[in-house]
Amino acid sequence: MDIYKSSRLDNLKYEIRGPVYEKAIALQNQGYKITSLNIGNPAAFGFETPDEIVHDIIVNIRQAQGYVDSRGLFAARKAVMHYYQNQGVKNIMIEDIYIGNGVSELISLVLTALLNTDDEVLIPSPDYPLWTTVVGLAGGKAVHYLCDEESDWNPSIEDIESKITSKTKALVIINPNNPTGAVYTKQTIDNIVKLAEKHKLLLFADEIYDKILYDGVSHHSAAGLSEEILICTMGGLSKNYRAAGFRGGWMILTGAKHKAKSYIEGLNFLFSTRLCANVITQVGIQTALGGYQSINDLVLPSGRLARQMNLATDKLNAIKGVSCVKPKGALYLFPKFDLSQFDFEDDNHFVMSLLEEQKILVVGGQGFNYKEKDHFRIVFLPHVEQLTVALDKIALHFDNHRL
Ligand code: PLP
Repeated sequence: MDIYKSSRLDNLKYEIRGPVYEKAIALQNQGYKITSLNIGNPAAFGFETPDEIVHDIIVNIRQAQGYVDSRGLFAARKAVMHYYQNQGVKNIMIEDIYIGNGVSELISLVLTALLNTDDEVLIPSPDYPLWTTVVGLAGGKAVHYLCDEESDWNPSIEDIESKITSKTKALVIINPNNPTGAVYTKQTIDNIVKLAEKHKLLLFADEIYDKILYDGVSHHSAAGLSEEILICTMGGLSKNYRAAGFRGGWMILTGAKHKAKSYIEGLNFLFSTRLCANVITQVGIQTALGGYQSINDLVLPSGRLARQMNLATDKLNAIKGVSCVKPKGALYLFPKFDLSQFDFEDDNHFVMSLLEEQKILVVGGQGFNYKEKDHFRIVFLPHVEQLTVALDKIALHFDNHRL
């Protein structure tokens, strides 16, 4: 008998590893060398995990053989608690901190514990698509609100408010943003919190890029900004500490915990069903969060990440018919191309042709639940030399397809 996938998977997608990615693997298997600018995986481009974290993990591996508390190792949770206390967040206790196998797992657990069939969650468009996928998997409905390219990809508060219904349970923000690179001002965060308070929404703040900031921009965490609503703030090792393969992330609950007793019970239950997160990675969290933060050097104007970001932004904006908002944070650019100037039908066509003709892999804007069909996302992680070659090929590709 044939075996069918669950109907829960119908209409769900995750294009960062979708059909174009599959095609890239097939080309690689045929012997082609593909430049992969499709995924924010720093270590693959020589951004190594700080030595002290690797050292700690090696030294402690023998002590990490058993299960630990479902919410995480005490030392790791305490380090996370201090991280937020140092930013001025009050009223946090060790019970409010949870460690997961990356933010991905946390996204899955927090939404599964929350949603009933048809409950709505407000998610940015464009988004980091896992949020949308998991809402669907959990039986809920993702409702996308606009982040406006014309205003540096800031979220439109009016659009968010216009989409709130009696079924809306939660609001998600991604700050710094993937894929746009936007970093929200304190005022914007305050406005979002006020809106969530007005409509009694749970606020999820995905802040996994909170230390990857350019040009002196500051990050304002949503953690601790309200006592009226529950705020769940997430961070992790994958990007700030270039340790995506270690699968380590954390989340912190602040605000109206007394109104969320049932939800927190549900969270604790779900966390317990998967026993615990990677113990050896949790050992690295305390080391990562304390002391010298090497990421700060990489984002200085003279640092490797900032130089690559500037190069990529300038080179993309130099292509006639292409424009790109300069990112303030994270690892990505989300350029727009003028469909009327090229023979591409849409972003998917552009992305597939770029792969086939130039052997460069990027992701189309629709993969980020963006309704316009004229954007793509590119990561600027390769060294300047490799990035220059790749961007020149992208420029050539646009020229080859110019009408
Ligand atoms: N959230 C955002 C905004 C991301 O960009 C990513 C990864 O790219 C994740 C979460 C997942 O991160 P992790 O490696 O911690 O699962």
